[in-house]
Amino acid sequence: MVPEELRKVLATAPLAYLPVGPLEWHGEHLSYGCDPIRAGWLLERLWKDLGGVLLPTLYLGTDGVKRTGDTELWGMELAAGEPLPGGTFLPADVFAAAIKHTLSFLERNGFRLCIVCTGHQAPEQIQAMEKLESESRHRAMRVIAWQSGRVIKANGQPDEIGHAGFEETSELMHIDPALVRMHRAGTAAADRKLGLTADTLSACSADAGRQRLELELQQLKSAVANLCRDIGLKLQTA
Ligand SMILES: [Zn+2]
Repeated sequence: MVPEELRKVLATAPLAYLPVGPLEWHGEHLSYGCDPIRAGWLLERLWKDLGGVLLPTLYLGTDGVKRTGDTELWGMELAAGEPLPGGTFLPADVFAAAIKHTLSFLERNGFRLCIVCTGHQAPEQIQAMEKLESESRHRAMRVIAWQSGRVIKANGQPDEIGHAGFEETSELMHIDPALVRMHRAGTAAADRKLGLTADTLSACSADAGRQRLELELQQLKSAVANLCRDIGLKLQTA
């Protein structure tokens, strides 16, 4: 994008889409970028429908951390009780500051709404993003801090997805089968400790992933449409 194109978008659809999530161990069978890739898929679809600017994914995230002597365990490492390879996290205050400053530049550039989406469900990540959402209520640019836990299933219950389990595995199968290595499921001790085995994942399918992603997209889209209506922002399509 060049400045002329940015000016045009700001005049017609001042919406920014920001996918955010850490690189994180998701079992032997899933790609590290699972969470930001899911967030990016949702926002790309939304951007194609509603217009605006799709920002490059920020591979940033935070999680719970426990320090014992010289060792630190982060997020799923606490559940596994051992270090897991490949994750990159920021302390919660650093993560919150990185997103806050990025959002304030988007606001300065003239965006009226930014949809920040994370596939990463750690409470520390969600709290930091939701704080930015609530602080935006009195600002020139509103923020929607979307995450999968906001999805309400057909039975009326919130969709609490398990780490690297049925939902995430099925979704990555739909997004890009090359991101999933089912034949590796359960081959590490950490997989077995966390119940990520070929047996427990046998019901996963690209079709189940597509259905879940479409449901989440539909609910995210109506959250965006409602907020746009509240702030008097006309969308080019609905
Ligand atoms: Zn995940």
